[in-house]
Amino acid sequence: TVLLLGACNGGNKKASGLGLDAGIEKRIDSVMAQMTLEEKVGQMAQFTVDVIGKGGNLYFSDEPFEIDPAMLDTVIGKYKVGSILNTANNRARTTEVWEKTVRTIQERALAETGIPVLYGIDAIHGTTYTAGATFFPQGVGMAATFNTHLMKEGSRITAYETRASNIPWTFAPTMDLGRDARWSRQWESYGEDAYLNARMGVASTLGFQGNDRNNVGSHHIAACVKHYMGYGVPVSGKDRTPALISESELREKYFEPFRASIVEGGALSLMVNSGIINGVSTHADYRLLTEWVKEELAFDGVIVTDWADVQNLLSRDRIATDYKEAVKTAINAGIDLVMEPYNLAFCPTLVELIEEGEIPMERIDDAVRRVLRMKFRLGLFEHPYWSRSEYPDFGSSESEAVAKAAADESITLLKNENNILPLPSNVRILVTGPNAHSMRTLNGGWSYSWQGEKTEEFAQEYNTIYEALQNKFGAANVRYEPGVTYKMDGQYYEENSPEIGKAVAAAAGVDYIVLCVGENSYCETPGNLDELALSENQTALALALQKTGKPVILVLNEGRPRLIRKIEPDSKAVLQLYLPGNFGGDALADILTGDVNPSGKLPYTYPRFEHGLITYDHKPSQNIDGKMEGAYDYGAQTSVQYPFGFGLSYTTFEYTNLSVDKKDFVSGDLLTVTVDVKNSGALAGKEAVLLFSSDMVASLSPDVRRLRAFEKITLEPGETKTVTLQLAADDLAFVNEKGEWTLEAGEFKLQAGDQIAMIRCTETRGWDRPNK
Ligand code: BGC
Repeated sequence: TVLLLGACNGGNKKASGLGLDAGIEKRIDSVMAQMTLEEKVGQMAQFTVDVIGKGGNLYFSDEPFEIDPAMLDTVIGKYKVGSILNTANNRARTTEVWEKTVRTIQERALAETGIPVLYGIDAIHGTTYTAGATFFPQGVGMAATFNTHLMKEGSRITAYETRASNIPWTFAPTMDLGRDARWSRQWESYGEDAYLNARMGVASTLGFQGNDRNNVGSHHIAACVKHYMGYGVPVSGKDRTPALISESELREKYFEPFRASIVEGGALSLMVNSGIINGVSTHADYRLLTEWVKEELAFDGVIVTDWADVQNLLSRDRIATDYKEAVKTAINAGIDLVMEPYNLAFCPTLVELIEEGEIPMERIDDAVRRVLRMKFRLGLFEHPYWSRSEYPDFGSSESEAVAKAAADESITLLKNENNILPLPSNVRILVTGPNAHSMRTLNGGWSYSWQGEKTEEFAQEYNTIYEALQNKFGAANVRYEPGVTYKMDGQYYEENSPEIGKAVAAAAGVDYIVLCVGENSYCETPGNLDELALSENQTALALALQKTGKPVILVLNEGRPRLIRKIEPDSKAVLQLYLPGNFGGDALADILTGDVNPSGKLPYTYPRFEHGLITYDHKPSQNIDGKMEGAYDYGAQTSVQYPFGFGLSYTTFEYTNLSVDKKDFVSGDLLTVTVDVKNSGALAGKEAVLLFSSDMVASLSPDVRRLRAFEKITLEPGETKTVTLQLAADDLAFVNEKGEWTLEAGEFKLQAGDQIAMIRCTETRGWDRPNK
């Protein structure tokens, strides 16, 4: 099986510094030789300290953070806890407060055990909990750029700014596939495709960690790929509810981004899926945790639980009769570090289990070794904290320029009737809709606070869409009328009574309407939804504005694709912003004027109907690609609003001369594919060149298309570039129903743009078979 994993999907490209460092292992030996059982158990525990200080009211306190010394006595003094998380969940802090916080904790830990604490935080699209940090588009927007260079740069900057906050570890990148539009965390993912997620995951991991994972250094941090795995496809669409995934899809699609981030990116840690797959709680799954990750991938990092998920084995999943059984099950399954934000009973419970022989000492030593290894790799023994003054580039204009470039490249033009965009200068605009004048909606969740509700307070220096349009078109030319507003104190989806009449009246005096609709910020389970359609108020606003006869430019700013089929036909242009971050307003303004030519492409399939959720890599019988010859016409079984990979430009691109260096191939071959791409329009532009494959016939009904390679290029008007894409023959393999990789003899179609090439595999090979 080791061959199987190395062989597939470009598994040979690796980060340097993979493998163990003999010096570090020796140092771990000498630290462990001195440790008591209680100290070892403490290294396997992770707590959030202000919860304990404030009696559990984590999210609603606005008081400045002060560490309660009595609480440190308990957590570090008594239980010797080795890891702390978040501690500022309710609002961002300055780098100076972070320095004080971490220094206080580290000084106490070093005095107590001589071992620094491993501090972890959710730095998701920037350093979430630090005031003044640089915020990038959320994952789904980064995926829409199809630009792995921007992804890596964004993570590198986030690493620097997180270190500047004295935190060496982020719970990112998110490697869950966003294959269900209903899921409240779809926007944290890199869309629905396994390959795109894998490329973005590797780029992000390398950006966070730098090139030497054994010596991460003071400008980088440890990544944590999450949530392993299948977390993104709950059957009900609701967060933290059960998923059903076939063995074939689990291995071929869901596992792949984790495999790539670990084997190629060298990810130092992994967080486990909070939910259950096929009835098995992932936190209790020895096969997925120990066999697939630690044994097959030779993963030498830390496996951490998600929030209170050992407790959840008992109170939610009901697979344990008491807490003790839950702890035993999780640790024996392969968990190294337990995120038990509230429950200090974890430590004595684990001590008891070890003393009773219920968990072997080797398992404990393995877990402790992994946690200590991470601390050495991060240099925490040498530098448990840093001075803020050593990070002069925190929030620099260079970093902000990268965030702006990422927003520019993420925005996806989905419709442009009669080339209505770009707009002429000197036009009068009505900007309207609940998202027109809101920094919160541009950023989404994990922004200055968990649910993103503190964004208006912290992001005042940046431009909302309304402000950016004023800057671009002149304040006198831009009118603002919200039409619909979100309730400030309600759930993210609650709206005030609409004032549609005011917006319609304001439309009388303008040439164009920029209608900004979508969602308010949310995160995790509170973002669960009962209906995917855009809200009734927002739909009514759109229909009323369309009746005025003024051209409506529909701007979508949303964490997941809300259904728009009722308002799309009479919108003259449609733009998807996703959650573009603090520069989203400026990026949109530049695109509306044509200063930036849009180049984003959809990283998911935009659904048209609630009962029409589908991914592009579906089976032929789902029949959206037209009637199959000779087959009964099932009609449009699933019709979508916009397909995966779709996105328009203000210029046009022509594809010619797709060719492959081998027409016939076998397992192990490397195929080189070239295609010429010409900018045939009048404006410079960027194009993401996507290469798809189709297995024409297979013993398991094949996916109609799969993305196999991509590259983003820039072309001047009239310019042609030859794009070269490498494809391992084994990337064309699939996983059969028994979970075995197989490359079957037969024809494959390759496609880039409208260009097609047929190639043939001449020999069937399965990786399960010996001697092959
Ligand atoms: C989320 C994780 C996050 C963790 C720590 C959990 O509720 O599912 O994504 O990293 O909390 O904040």
